[in-house]
Amino acid sequence: MIEHSLQAMARSLADREISSVELTQLYLDRIVRHNSGLNAFITVDPAASLAQARAADERLARGEGGPLTGIPIAHKDIFCAKDWLTTCGSKMLSNFVSPYDAAVISRFGEAGAVMLGKTNMDEFAMGSSNETSFYGPVRNPWDGSCVPGGSSGGSAAAVAARLAPAATGTDTGGSIRQPAALCNLSGLKPTYGVVSRYGMIAFASSLDQAGPLGRSAADCAILLNVMAGFDDRDSTSLDRQREDYCRELAAPAGNKPLAGLTIGLPEEFFGEGCSAEVTRLVEAAIAEYRKLGAETVAIRLPSMGLAVAAYYVIAPAEASSNLARFDGVRYGHRAADYRDLTDMYCKSRAQGFGAEVKRRILIGTYVLSHGYYDAYYLQAQRVRRLIARDFAEAFRQCDVILGPTSPSTAFKLGEKAADPVQMYLSDIYTIAVNLAGLPAISIPCGFASGLPAGLQLIGNYFSEARLLHAAHRYQQENPWHLQHPDGFA
Ligand code: GLN
Repeated sequence: MIEHSLQAMARSLADREISSVELTQLYLDRIVRHNSGLNAFITVDPAASLAQARAADERLARGEGGPLTGIPIAHKDIFCAKDWLTTCGSKMLSNFVSPYDAAVISRFGEAGAVMLGKTNMDEFAMGSSNETSFYGPVRNPWDGSCVPGGSSGGSAAAVAARLAPAATGTDTGGSIRQPAALCNLSGLKPTYGVVSRYGMIAFASSLDQAGPLGRSAADCAILLNVMAGFDDRDSTSLDRQREDYCRELAAPAGNKPLAGLTIGLPEEFFGEGCSAEVTRLVEAAIAEYRKLGAETVAIRLPSMGLAVAAYYVIAPAEASSNLARFDGVRYGHRAADYRDLTDMYCKSRAQGFGAEVKRRILIGTYVLSHGYYDAYYLQAQRVRRLIARDFAEAFRQCDVILGPTSPSTAFKLGEKAADPVQMYLSDIYTIAVNLAGLPAISIPCGFASGLPAGLQLIGNYFSEARLLHAAHRYQQENPWHLQHPDGFA
C-alpha cells in the first residue's frame, strides 16, 4: 500500500480494500517506528487524525469521496491548523495552538484528506538544510548523516521514508524544490498567487508560495488541484478560472510524445558552481527529453548571477517586517523576567528567535533603514525586475527551461551550518524563479554515490499543467522516482 500512487490509494479506499482508519493507522505506526531517527514530525495527534479518518470513511461509505478523501497528508508546520500546535520550527511559537485553519489546511479538510501531523522545518522557513529548526535537524532517509534539504525538510523526509503518502511545503527561494531534489521526490512551486497564503506564517510575503511534495508529478497534480484556487482573504490571491492540473496526465494525452515542446537550456545553469555528478545526471535527462520528442535550444539568463544577492536583500527586508509581530504580547514566547516593556520585548525576542532568524532581521532592518534603502532595497528591486525580464525574453524562445534543482546532492549535517554564504548558494538555481513569481517543478533524475539528484523544469506563468505533463512523461520512461531508501520497512 505504501508504494501506491495517490490515485491507486484512492481506488483502494473506494473499493473498500482498506479503510481510511486502517490507512491512517498504518502511517501512524510507521511514524512511531521511524520518526525518532528522522525527526521529520514535530507534532502527531493520533486521536485527531483517526477522528478525521472515521469521518472520511463515512463520506466514502456514502459514495461521496473525492481523489484525496481518506488519504493522510502531512503538513509543514508553517500552516496554521485549528487546535494543533503550530510552531513554524521556532521556540517563539513553541506554545502556539492555532485558533483557525490556514486556507491550505481547510482545502485539504474539505477534500476529506486526513491530517497526519505537522512536519519539521527550518525556523520560519529560513534555511536550506532543516538545521535551523528549534526542534533539531531532520535526517535524510537516504543517508542519515546528510541533510534532507530545507526548509520543508520534514515534509520531504516524511514522504521519502514513506511516513506519509504526500505532504505540503512552502517555497520562498527553493524550499519545496531543493528538499524534493535531495530526497528523490517531486515538488512543485506554483505561480505566485495560485495558492492562498492565508494562515501560512509569513516569511517574505512577495516570494512565499505553498505547493505539494509527492512521490510523482501525477501525485503533485492531484494535490495542487486541492490547494489551488482564489481566496479573498489573501490580497495577492489570483482570481482565475479553476483548472484541472491532472488534465494532461491521463492517457491518451498523458502518453503523447513531447513533440512541439521546446526546452531552453540556460548557459548560466551549466557552468561552474554545479557539481560534476549533478551536471552529468541532468545532461542524461536532457538526452531523455530529446528521445521523447522535445527540442532543445540554448538560451541566456544574463541577470541570473545577481539573483541570490537580490534575494538576500528582499527576503530579509520582508522578514524583518513580518516578524515584528512576534513581540511576546499577542502570542508566542514571553521571557519570564523583565524590568519594563522594552526589556520584555528584547528578552522575549532574544530568547524566542534562533541565530539565523536574528541574522535575517538585522539584515532586513539595515537594508530598509534611511540612507541604505536606495542603495540596497531599491537596487535589489531593480535587479528583481531584470530577472523577470530575462525569463520573459527566454520564454519567447522556449516553452520550459531545464536545469539542475540544486548544485549538489545532499550534504552532510553540519557541513555548511557555519558558513551562511555556502548555505545560501544551495538555492542558486531556484531563487530566481521566486523573484519572478514563476512556477517550477523538481523531479528525480538519478543517483550519484547513492544520493538522489533533482532536475528542475521552470515554466511561464500558469503553465503548471504543462510542467506536470513534461515531468510525468519523463517519469513514465525514467522511473527514478519509484526508488525508495532502504531501512524503512
Ligand atoms: N534557503 C532559502 C532561505 O533560506 C529559501 C528558503 C525558502 O524557500 N523558504 O531563505
